[in-house]
Formats: sequence, C-alpha cells, structure tokens
Amino acid sequence: MEKVFQYIDENSEQYLNWLIEACNQPSVSAQNRGMIEMKELVKSFLSKVSAEIEEIETERYPIIYGEINNGKEKTLTFYNHYDVQPDDPIEEWLSEPFKVEIREGKIFARGVADNKGNLLARICAVHAYQQVYGELPINLKFVFEGEEEVGSPHLEYFATNFPEKLKTDAMIWEGGTRGVEDRRLNVGLGVKGISYLELVCRGANTDLHSSEAAIIENPAWRLIWALNTLKDKEENILIEGFFDDIAPLSEKEKKYIQSMHFDEEEIKELYGIKSFLKNVTGERLKEVLTAAPTCTICGISSGYIGEGSKTVLPSVAKVKLDFRLVPNQTPERVKELLRNHLDKHGFEDIGILQSHGIHPFNTNPEDPFVDVVLDSISEVYEEKPVILRNLAGSSPMYKMLKNTNIPAVQIGVANQQSNYHAPNENIYIDDYIQGIKVTASVIKNFR
Ligand SMILES: [Zn+2]
Repeated sequence: MEKVFQYIDENSEQYLNWLIEACNQPSVSAQNRGMIEMKELVKSFLSKVSAEIEEIETERYPIIYGEINNGKEKTLTFYNHYDVQPDDPIEEWLSEPFKVEIREGKIFARGVADNKGNLLARICAVHAYQQVYGELPINLKFVFEGEEEVGSPHLEYFATNFPEKLKTDAMIWEGGTRGVEDRRLNVGLGVKGISYLELVCRGANTDLHSSEAAIIENPAWRLIWALNTLKDKEENILIEGFFDDIAPLSEKEKKYIQSMHFDEEEIKELYGIKSFLKNVTGERLKEVLTAAPTCTICGISSGYIGEGSKTVLPSVAKVKLDFRLVPNQTPERVKELLRNHLDKHGFEDIGILQSHGIHPFNTNPEDPFVDVVLDSISEVYEEKPVILRNLAGSSPMYKMLKNTNIPAVQIGVANQQSNYHAPNENIYIDDYIQGIKVTASVIKNFR
C-alpha cells in the first residue's frame, strides 16, 4: 500500500486541483444553478478512472452511475452527491462561495465538505490505485446523485428500478467527520430518521377584534393545551406507543457509543447552558444523544408578533414539530401515533400536515465490512477512529438500502467545524489527502 500512498502524496497537487475545479462549479439543486455543467464535470472525473458511465434520468437532475467491472468477486459502491446547498447568506462569506480560496491549510468553498471533497476523494483513490497497480482487486460502482440537498426524491426510484445497479457487497457513504480536538475520525453506521410535522388549529374563520375573546375560542390557547399533552415538565415524551417500536442497543453498539468523545464542560460552555436535559451526564448522556428519539417544537406562529401591539384574536395557530427517529421507528407510524394521541385528548379538530419524513438507517455493527473500514483507517491515521451508531444529520440511506442487507459505512474528509450548509464551508487539505488514502486502503482490504 506504501506505493499507492506515495503516489497520492506525489500527486496531491493534481488531486487538489480536481477538487478546486469541482468546487468552482456551482451546483445548487434548489436553485437549478449550474447543475448541467456539474453533471458533465462529474462524468469527466469518472472517465479519468475509466468507469462505464450511465445517466439515470429523473424529472430533475440525473443520477450519474459509474461502474468498473473487473470480474472480481467483491463489489464496493460509493454513494455521493454532486449538488450543494445554496450559498446565502452570501455576505457572511469571507471569500466567494464558488471560487476556492485556500487559507491556513484549509480549502474554503460551498460544497467542499458536503460533499465534493468526498466525491473527489473516492475518485482520486481509484485513480491512484490504478496508476500504481493497473487493475483493481474489486469491482466498483459509483452512485452520484444530483438531488440530495432537495431530499433525494428519486433515490427510491433508482433502488426499485435498477436492482442490478444497486447490487453490491458494501457501500461507502458520504458523511463522517474528523474531531477537531482529538483528531479522531468519526465513522458513521447510519442516521437517525426524522418526522417533520405541522399542527394547525383553527378558530373563527377570520381574525377578530380581541374583545370577542370573551365569547370566542382562541386557537393559540388550544394549540398550547394540545402541545402540553405531548411532553411533561420533566421532558418526558407522553405520546402513547412512541417508544414501543424502538430496537434495543446491542452490546457492541453500547461499546461504540461509549468510545465517543464528548466533553460535557466544553459543550456547556459553548452553548451557554448550565446542564443537559434531565440533568443527564456521563455514559447515559452519550447513549441518549445517540439512541434517544426527540419531540421538538421548531417554531410556533399565531396572531400578531410585529412591532407595537395589535389587539387581535387570531383565527389560526400553527406549530412545526420535528421528531428525530431511531430504529425501528418510522415517520408514518409517528404521525399515526400523534393523531391517535390528539384524538384521545380531545383535539380531533387539530390537523396534522406532514412536510417530510426520513426513515432511520443502521448498519449492523457486527458486519465484517465495518472492520474492513476500521482497519483501513488505522493504516492512515494514528488516532483510533470513533464508531458512531448514527451521525447527527439525516440522510437518504434508507431510501436506497431498505429491503437489502448491504452494509453502508459513512466516512469523510470534513471535520466538526467544516460549516456544513453554512457560510465559509471548509475542509483541511490534509484531511482530503488522508481521505484519499483511506479510500484506497478500503479498496485494497475489501476482498
Ligand atoms: Zn451531503
């Protein structure tokens, strides 16, 4: 492997330039900005490793599918996406979002962390391996999506309609970051799911003069009473059946969770809080953070909250709620449980709108591929990696991998201060180069 690592070091400038080229090309799926150009660029990168390329058409942006079939026994698939988040608030960027700037060893650009850095690291690893050894020891597939940042509306379609292309022995997924303090790589085995709902409570058919409040019901109060039944003051979620489906943690998962770095004092200081929810600390805190579902009020609106006063009796009150879900909860089931709960408490009139839902996904920590990835990391990094049962964000892993037993592991070139989805997104050049090496090691070790 030394030879491949050496090749990567010697060609690091070229690999950096490829990434710069990718980042300088805007590709904002939400705004239909630069997507066609980016798609072509991705194809040109894939052709550098002689992949057979196919565009899977969708209503918006195609999935770029690539394949290197060497007739080997094992197949590994890389999932990445070539779209990025919008760049606003643009005034908070220190350099232009779509013009790479390098400062203090870091590459700044929209999408460099999420996830053009990862996309290119995978391709560069394959390239380096091929340059040194010619043929790869395994078959490879690439699934590069163009709609991840708008909710992956066609990933399920891909999985259902192209079973041959989905067929693989393991996947490397985007995500996974490096700790800033301890420099340890976080390896993700999945994501929590999410159920994002809006409750709507209606009163009179129009806003009224607030003197009418003596005789007419206020939907804002009613919504508050309904919310009061969802959670008690001790922070317990009270929705009946909410915890029933949850899969218990295995011993290995518990062990992995405890290996996670979590500096309680530092986090408390960072957020300006005195204690954590329910005063939980230590091992239990890590377990809750990783494996507990949530019920969160994301925003409430009703009546008048502008400057000065307006004596109004509102006609409608709304709240947006998000539930973070863990295996085996589902967005559909949570909505159903919430409906039953509201009905039971006399709030049949309160409507529920589901804006989006994502199923949780977890790779079995016992799967041998997890060890392949961990061994590969240890060939590159001195610091022992941290294995996380789920990463913080959500991801469409379930859409692609439900009904399969394909293990998917998330590793990446970003760090915990990479400013995902935020101004001044960045990664370290070093982490990018190391990420190429880790990927090359996985290719070697997965036989
Ligand atoms: Zn991403």
